[in-house]
Amino acid sequence: MSVPRRKSDMPLEILHRIGLFRVFQLLNSRSLTVLNYHRIADPEKDGFDTFRPNISATPENFAHQMDYMRQNFNVISEAELLAWLRGEQGLPPRAAMITFDDGYQDNWANAYPILRARNLPAIIFLTTNYIEKNTPFYWDTLAYVFRHTKKDHADLPLIGEQSWQNDHEMEQVMLMWAEAAKLLPESEKEKALQRIPEILDVLIPENAFQGLHLSWDQVREMAQNGIEMGSHTISHPILTRISIEQVKEELVESKKRIEAEIGMPVKSFAYPNGGVADFTPRISGLLRESGYHLAFSLIPGPTSFATVKENPYAIRRIFLLHADSFSRFVGKMTGLARFFA
Ligand SMILES: [Zn+2]
Repeated sequence: MSVPRRKSDMPLEILHRIGLFRVFQLLNSRSLTVLNYHRIADPEKDGFDTFRPNISATPENFAHQMDYMRQNFNVISEAELLAWLRGEQGLPPRAAMITFDDGYQDNWANAYPILRARNLPAIIFLTTNYIEKNTPFYWDTLAYVFRHTKKDHADLPLIGEQSWQNDHEMEQVMLMWAEAAKLLPESEKEKALQRIPEILDVLIPENAFQGLHLSWDQVREMAQNGIEMGSHTISHPILTRISIEQVKEELVESKKRIEAEIGMPVKSFAYPNGGVADFTPRISGLLRESGYHLAFSLIPGPTSFATVKENPYAIRRIFLLHADSFSRFVGKMTGLARFFA
């Protein structure tokens, strides 16, 4: 979960058209570009009432992006990256990886067929407590309640009295709350969230989030067909906000659970939230001790092969959003897009 900013895409479109991105890719050819998706779905579809910023691309745009990846990058699997780290094989120039966080069912329904049709590998980082459950992540509960409230103002925990006059303003209040909640310890976040439906006078039906997350059968089907499974913890806490004992449990138990379900070893991890403040060298050390070989952040940009080799527990990724134009998508992969406000 991360909150988007609207930016003008004009300068990016110009750079894309004159081919400057291509030049940067060639200069950067000894680097690993890792794409980060969450959900592949259409947020404009009627009845859509979960957290829109987690939609990384519509199925149509995702297919277009995957075609671009096949033409401009060498997409590699986790197994290929690990073989290179062990010194068993080289890496192709402009190596790229495709990853998904959280474990939403649309990864299976919408992304998997597109990946299979193009024979592209990918890693899905699962949050094990949510797989096969109707329990939503806190940002989806939040989005649901705001979507269904009839109120236009409220006194909310963390951010106080707020009012809104249209859907856009309401979404801004919702995002403000989500950002404020990120700063709370995990237990307090849950408590604050529980008050929101009542304050906004929304009753959440039991089946509201049915089918939102992957089932273990879907995970197994994909694991047997070229999609690698990694861990994204048991419960999605920000690891620097819980005790070291809890961190260990999140790393060890999520790995065990996925391995038991798919019958294959789990070697990769993605840090929840993934920013610079969301993991430490100590946590990376625990990953290594727990039997993980790779870990991915959400610090933007490609990572040079030399840096990956030096520390395979802080591989950068490029966070994608459904609101990205195709030029912004291409620009993000060069690491240049963040310079264009
Ligand atoms: Zn996540």
